[in-house]
Amino acid sequence: MRPLTEQDIRSSFINCSKGEAKRLAVPRDLGERPWADLDFLGWRDPGAPDRSHLVTERDGRLVGVALRFQPARRGFLHRSMCSLCLTTHPRGGVSLMTARKAGAAGREGNSVGAYMCTDLACSLYLRGLKVPESGGRFEESLTLEEQIARTRGRLFAFLDALRA
Ligand SMILES: [Zn+2]
Repeated sequence: MRPLTEQDIRSSFINCSKGEAKRLAVPRDLGERPWADLDFLGWRDPGAPDRSHLVTERDGRLVGVALRFQPARRGFLHRSMCSLCLTTHPRGGVSLMTARKAGAAGREGNSVGAYMCTDLACSLYLRGLKVPESGGRFEESLTLEEQIARTRGRLFAFLDALRA
C-alpha cells in the first residue's frame, strides 16, 4: 500500500467519531514502515492495551477501523488461526478483534468480530518477513499473490460486514 501520513490515518476511520479519530494513538514511526509489503497497516494502542487499529486501501480509498480485543490471559495455551492470513499462533498470538459497526448500527451497539493476528502483522507473515513464535503457516499450493488476494478479500469482507 502507499505510505500514509497521520492525517491520512485520522481521516480514514469508518467506525468511530471524528473526536475519537482525532485522539487515537497513531504510530510515530510511519516513515519507517515497510509500506511496499503491507496490505494494511495495523497497530496496537500503547495507552490502551485492549485497542488496536487498522487502515487499508480499497479501490484507491483509505478505510480505517477501530478494534477492541480481550488481551490474552496468562497460561492460555490454546493455539488459534488468524482468519485473514491463516497463520497459527500459540498463546494470545491470535485475538478475537471486535469492531463497532459503521454509522447508526454502531451507535446502537452492533459490532462484528473476526480472529486476527494480535500484532496485525498478517502482511509480513504472508511474505515470510516475520515468523510466528512457535506457530506456523501450513504449506499451501497457492502462490504468494493468490494468498495476498485471499487475505485482502477476507479483510474486505470484514469491512463490508461493518457497513452492512
Ligand atoms: Zn494474520
